[in-house]
Amino acid sequence: MKQYLEFDEIEVPSRKTKVFEVRNKETDWFLGTVQWANNWRQYTFVQRLDLQIQMSSGCMKELCVFIDELMNERKHPKVKHCKVKLKCFWCSKRYVDLESHTKKMHLGLTARSYDYNG
Ligand SMILES: [Zn+2]
Repeated sequence: MKQYLEFDEIEVPSRKTKVFEVRNKETDWFLGTVQWANNWRQYTFVQRLDLQIQMSSGCMKELCVFIDELMNERKHPKVKHCKVKLKCFWCSKRYVDLESHTKKMHLGLTARSYDYNG
């Protein structure tokens, strides 16, 4: 759970990458967006123009962690972002969202798939 910031994914049909609104959790102020920068090949924070934004170190860390997670997700897509059904290693049934299935049905075990891990 984030302490200072809230990130809400918004639909931007013209973009292939994700866009998130960044808000102050306490005041609900819109601070800017996290979006893909083509020239840098990475997700960046774009500050809202008409507001001076002051951020504590904890706040900036949350922003950094969020962006790092997005970048990691791109490099290693999670099972849940995959539309194909994966065969559960533990019960041999197929699920689109293997991760939440595993969380619900196989407490304490991590999501594993035959298709995924060989
Ligand atoms: Zn299973």
